[in-house]
Amino acid sequence: MKVLLAASEVAPVIKIGGLGDVIGALPKALEKISVNVDVIVPFFPSAKIENLQLYKSFDLHVPFANKNNVVEVFKTKLPDSNVDLYLLKNEEFFVAGGSNFFANNVTETQMFAFFNKAIVEYVKSSFNTYDIVHCNDWHTGLVTGLLNDELGSERPRTLFTIHNLNYQGIGNPALLRDTGIVPGEHPLIDWDLADGDLNMMQQGITSSDFINTVSPSYAKEILTKEFGSNFEDILKAREGRLSGILNGVDYSAQPRTYDINSVEEGKKEAKKALMDRLKIDKKHKDAPIFSFIGRIDAFQKGLDILFDSLPDLLKEDAVFVLLGTGDKKWEEKLITLSKHKTISDKFSCNIMFDIELANLMYAGSDFLVVPSRYEPCGLIQMIAMWYGTLPIVHDVGGLKDTVKNGETGFVFNRYSAGALSASMKEALDVYGTEKMTQMIQNAMKKDFGWEQSAVEYKKLYEKITAHV
Ligand code: ADP
Repeated sequence: MKVLLAASEVAPVIKIGGLGDVIGALPKALEKISVNVDVIVPFFPSAKIENLQLYKSFDLHVPFANKNNVVEVFKTKLPDSNVDLYLLKNEEFFVAGGSNFFANNVTETQMFAFFNKAIVEYVKSSFNTYDIVHCNDWHTGLVTGLLNDELGSERPRTLFTIHNLNYQGIGNPALLRDTGIVPGEHPLIDWDLADGDLNMMQQGITSSDFINTVSPSYAKEILTKEFGSNFEDILKAREGRLSGILNGVDYSAQPRTYDINSVEEGKKEAKKALMDRLKIDKKHKDAPIFSFIGRIDAFQKGLDILFDSLPDLLKEDAVFVLLGTGDKKWEEKLITLSKHKTISDKFSCNIMFDIELANLMYAGSDFLVVPSRYEPCGLIQMIAMWYGTLPIVHDVGGLKDTVKNGETGFVFNRYSAGALSASMKEALDVYGTEKMTQMIQNAMKKDFGWEQSAVEYKKLYEKITAHV
């Protein structure tokens, strides 16, 4: 079985968000169970290649926008593995981006339409030896359609993984001309264009042989109006081909100075280190620390209900630490709240991206709050459990699949500040009790490593190749 994993990023070479973590870890776990996976991504200038043995393999000639574009194919190994990584270089299309957002001189959708065309040329140049092309999110949404055009029934099978349905890659229909797709010849594309734009997520969903998403619960939720981002009917029509596989955690990227036997002492030290680093008043040294780590995306990450419930929490003897960046308006709101004189000594608001601080927070906090409105998988709650920090989560998506109320954390059902407050109050009541000690043990016993998920992916690949 030979698989080509195609995506916009792969950690640690190109890391923008959680998608990069998945693309960096999954092939390594698959390699261990004898699935031969190659990875293909754009070669952005921000790629961290210092410690890689990189060499130019060959040139691809990619017809796009009425001209012949040269793409240099660089080959290397994914660090700490034998997985082949192909980086596609082109100075017109893959010029910027790949650091924390895409700001290119071509639009994002044009850049990725070109990437999709280049992937297909690459598959052809490798004598069409892949059994499966595993596409990820809208950045690879046109791959199946283009493979069909170029290779017809000889093409590899395709799997399209939805990591976040809300980001869709909506482009100008003129893009189709650039890729060489002829309108009128593809019913799925004509249907998509009827509303005046080309939706690359929709293309991925409708054209790929199979679809999956990153947790079993999210796979069910996206069939509903509430979570379907207007794709619920299309997804329902393809329900037989849709499944959910939980993402894993790469524990090697989460250093820990203690284990399940030394957690009490270890967390005490980490808590002290966190308080020192953030200069939190010593008078709160015995208070529980609640944390939030993540993108400041008020729609997805539940910052609105968190904001409304914080004053209530901080009336109690509790400390709140926030780490995140994103929406400027919400960053400002949170900073202003943290300066309010009644709570300023208990609310440390850190608007930045800092992996070291994140790890210190995972270790030194007592509770991690994840109030997301929707959460396809979510890594932070699983990482928190590894550090013996109890997650407080909304009952959706991957949060629902990984946290058990009263056992490994706290789960609230209704998306409201009141429900979140009640859950945080429960956590306060449990703080320092024998029950909390037991819950920490339960949480730390959980194993969310990639091994199990890789086995699931292998089974799915086998099902796809067996399917005619
Ligand atoms: P998403 O992929 O939706 O952003 P996840 O929970 O799946 O959310 O993954 C977020 C990852 O990014 C986690 O590893 C988390 O520790 C990390 N992270 C998020 N924000 C920050 C930040 N400001 N500083 C450091 N790490 C962060």
